[in-house]
Amino acid sequence: MSANIIIAIDGPAGAGKSTIAKMVASRLGFSYIDTGAMYRAIAFEALKRGIIKDEKAVEALAGEIDIQFSPDGDINRVYADGKELTELIRTPEVSNQASFVSSLAGVRAAMLLKQRELGQKGNVVMDGRDVGTCIFPDADIKVFLTATSIERARRRYIELVAKGADIDINELKKEIDARDKADSQRAIAPLKKADDAIEIDSTKLSIQQTADMIMQLAKKRIQNAL
Ligand code: C5P
Repeated sequence: MSANIIIAIDGPAGAGKSTIAKMVASRLGFSYIDTGAMYRAIAFEALKRGIIKDEKAVEALAGEIDIQFSPDGDINRVYADGKELTELIRTPEVSNQASFVSSLAGVRAAMLLKQRELGQKGNVVMDGRDVGTCIFPDADIKVFLTATSIERARRRYIELVAKGADIDINELKKEIDARDKADSQRAIAPLKKADDAIEIDSTKLSIQQTADMIMQLAKKRIQNAL
């Protein structure tokens, strides 16, 4: 396929962005970039090195760390400096610290460069909070994917329990709400629907139905570009 299409999928925590973005990318034969995993990888490494409270050190880490993705069937493997972090970055603690590190100017500047580099070849689906507003403001398709916060907590709960986590759904909802608030209110690149993004509320939609809606938008755009 010769069209160089960029599909941006942004939205709050737990709206299903990664699952949907991965599915759409796989159906189109595009690559998939999970920008949230990049902030998670920085948070994980900062926690491991005991530097999470040192903003300058975290910003320096973001400038140096080599984050790579490697698709493996349904799994989007994440590596930092050659070490696999795919599962390790999915804990609630890493989620919360990812939200903190993502508010630091030096971290965002380093990730913006890397994310643009990863996406510039096109034919890519990228998900996050600021893909359509900051990383690729000229993206061909912009989707803002939402769902009620209780539904998002319910989905996350099912996912974590399946992995053996012992977790309270109300606590999870509180964490999701707090993370959305921090992500929406930060000074740099806050979570926000781009003016020209299409909002999809997935509360009552299945994964399949949501992916189908984005596929329709993508097919139309690809036909126009060819
Ligand atoms: O999408 P995910 O929940 O994995 O993202 C983890 C955190 O990374 C978010 O809560 C947000 O603070 C941050 N993030 C961001 N910008 C992005 C993607 C994620 O600030 N483009």
